[in-house]
Amino acid sequence: MANRPTPRTDVTRSAILAHIGANGPASRAELARALAVSPALMTQLTRDLLADGLIVELEQAPSNGGRPARMLGLAASAGRAIGVKVVADHVAFVEVGIDGRVLRSASEPFDAASSTYLTELVDRIRHFIAGGSGATLLGVGVGVPGSVDQPGSGVVDAPQLDWSKVELGDALRRALELPVIVENNVNALAVAERLFGLGRSHDNFLVVTIGTGVGAGIVVDGNVLRAASGGAGEIGHIPIADDGPRCSCGNDGCLEAYIGEAALVARARAEGVVSAAGGIASLRAAAESGDERAERIFSEAGALLGRTLAGVVHTIAPAFIVVLGEGTEAWRHWSFGFEPAFRSHLLRHVRSIRVEVETWQDESWAQGAAALVLATPFDAVGAAGDQGRLIRARLVEQAGRS
Ligand SMILES: [Zn+2]
Repeated sequence: MANRPTPRTDVTRSAILAHIGANGPASRAELARALAVSPALMTQLTRDLLADGLIVELEQAPSNGGRPARMLGLAASAGRAIGVKVVADHVAFVEVGIDGRVLRSASEPFDAASSTYLTELVDRIRHFIAGGSGATLLGVGVGVPGSVDQPGSGVVDAPQLDWSKVELGDALRRALELPVIVENNVNALAVAERLFGLGRSHDNFLVVTIGTGVGAGIVVDGNVLRAASGGAGEIGHIPIADDGPRCSCGNDGCLEAYIGEAALVARARAEGVVSAAGGIASLRAAAESGDERAERIFSEAGALLGRTLAGVVHTIAPAFIVVLGEGTEAWRHWSFGFEPAFRSHLLRHVRSIRVEVETWQDESWAQGAAALVLATPFDAVGAAGDQGRLIRARLVEQAGRS
């Protein structure tokens, strides 16, 4: 049984975990330099963290001469997090290790518009937690399709769910007696990219999602841009025409009203590309089989997205763009319109900006929500507030129990 560390050492232990979490595996010498503590103290602290099972020694990387330094990484078993995706008609869950790996997942029907939605949501989350291994849960992250004022207290405005000023974070925390962080689902994906994806080595990038809705998560100087009321990144509601179709937000001519899934399907039905009951899967199948009308629907959507994103690139100057979401399954067809429209509208010095389309899985949204919890030890600006502090405390306390 390890002795409980003193409060001062606790801070440094937490900082070591935070540094490895945010920057990837590091040697003892690198950690000592980064955290400005003596190599001797760092050796002792990392020995304790290894003994407590919070970090592990990794396979040594091949080295060019000299003695290779042992690299230290986070131990997957050091703590777990639950991620919850909430949409209008179902909830999806994942349990992940501290390294972001999905350990188990589930999906259940849910009616966000029901008068008892909160009790039902609590019951479903409890049920999922009860099915787990009983390992220390650091907290619960919840991603919603809407804007969230203060991820810590989690006040949600989500027209898609018919929720207005719902104090979801506080309600869930009281019911579950765990730290809870609520965030816009696209911002949650941006946090996950920062922690585990391409964003690991870049401080400025853009995550764009296509599918039912169209959205963006903006990472500036290493942090997800929340701006006023957490509403930054609603690129689906950029107006692109004066007299365009009605959008789900109630306005006319938004980008999403042209390239959201519902708009693509409506056009495909009207043009007879799919049957009156056909959905996005039928439209994709038509494009795959070489139906030119189907290909044109996707490629014109790609062109509208490309032209709009060129404007976004000029506004926020990201180093690269990651495209995610259910819509990426048809990206091959989007890209024919996207590439020329995007590149030709970019200023010359950014014209070759990298656009990466990542493989999408059903559980990706919930995985993003779990990253909200895993990111808090590494949350430099303290966006998660008290909930972040509670999660950090649970991570360090874990050592005292081993
Ligand atoms: Zn709109």
